[in-house]
Amino acid sequence: MDKQSLFVQVANMEERIGELYVELGTLKQKIQELIEENQRLEQETERLRAAAKDLPLAQGSEGLDNLNRIYQEGFHICNVKYGSLRTEGECLFCLSFLHK
Ligand SMILES: [Zn+2]
Repeated sequence: MDKQSLFVQVANMEERIGELYVELGTLKQKIQELIEENQRLEQETERLRAAAKDLPLAQGSEGLDNLNRIYQEGFHICNVKYGSLRTEGECLFCLSFLHK
């Protein structure tokens, strides 16, 4: 058995493990950031839901302005997905509601 080549293989493996370890650390950091971001968005959604509950939905232009603002901030205001984040861009249900 070629000892030299075994040492080279082990050294290469050590190097790859080192790189993977660094990559793992980066991924852990990203997951942590995503969890925090998710938590922040959940709280924001909760806050907006609570605020939206008090809105005079079908009354006056102020209610419509508020709904428009909530929609612009990235949330659904349609009764299909009310209060959830608009992850897919524009929503035809929301838009038809705003332009009623
Ligand atoms: Zn919608």
